[in-house]
Amino acid sequence: MIESNEKIIVKEEYGLRYIQFRKLLELGVNHLYTLKSDGIDFATGGNLENKSYNTVAQILKIPREKILIPKQTHTDCVKCVDERVNYESLNFTDGLITDRKGLALATKNADCILLNFYDPVKKVIANVHSGWRGTYKKISEKTVVKMINNYGSKPEDIYCFINPSIRVDHFEVDEDVMELGREIFKFTSRTNEFIKKGRVFDNKQKYNIDTVLINRILLETLGLKPENIIDCDICSYCNKDEVASARAEGQGYRRAVSVMMM
Ligand SMILES: [Zn+2]
Repeated sequence: MIESNEKIIVKEEYGLRYIQFRKLLELGVNHLYTLKSDGIDFATGGNLENKSYNTVAQILKIPREKILIPKQTHTDCVKCVDERVNYESLNFTDGLITDRKGLALATKNADCILLNFYDPVKKVIANVHSGWRGTYKKISEKTVVKMINNYGSKPEDIYCFINPSIRVDHFEVDEDVMELGREIFKFTSRTNEFIKKGRVFDNKQKYNIDTVLINRILLETLGLKPENIIDCDICSYCNKDEVASARAEGQGYRRAVSVMMM
């Protein structure tokens, strides 16, 4: 059972269980990550069609039409949005950034990493979906670069919060995906830390990749303070009864949503 600890708070309201980061609350950012709850699922429909968003809007005390959900397709595209945003422009988008109050940024997952960024100095938030493909395309790095270039953020001021996702012990890949990662990230000289030789299955050597560590390395390389990268340390696969996990659930798997707003 996922419970409150020194980093996160677990709550239930209006029949929805969710997680919040203590530090992000302390910084004044309204947010949540949904845990499995009866009758709640974000697999289909946008904020106006899927009733589950009503519950999220109720908890965050915002109009549900203010929840912006990009049409994630494992790209490295991060868009800066304001109140003029038009929904059609959120196709092929895996991350959103804004400096506007009252706009709620959402991302969805079932094993992939969802990163919540906040710069308390420039008052900028970003919500980013980074599965292994997005991680390989360095979407987290691109987000921070946009925060720096478009909003004047300084890396040392930026916080990054890592929501539940599949963790290294359960994120198993074949040799091709492992080799691709080794090639892309050889510049870090730390591939041995995030690529682990796994089991042999079906006569094939498997590998386990620590995508959370890759993101951490990318962000620390840009100048984020290690202590400002706050991981909830929750594996979706290990906690499949409570957290959406595509690998653990198989076909018809549910999805969770991360929503944040200033
Ligand atoms: Zn696990």
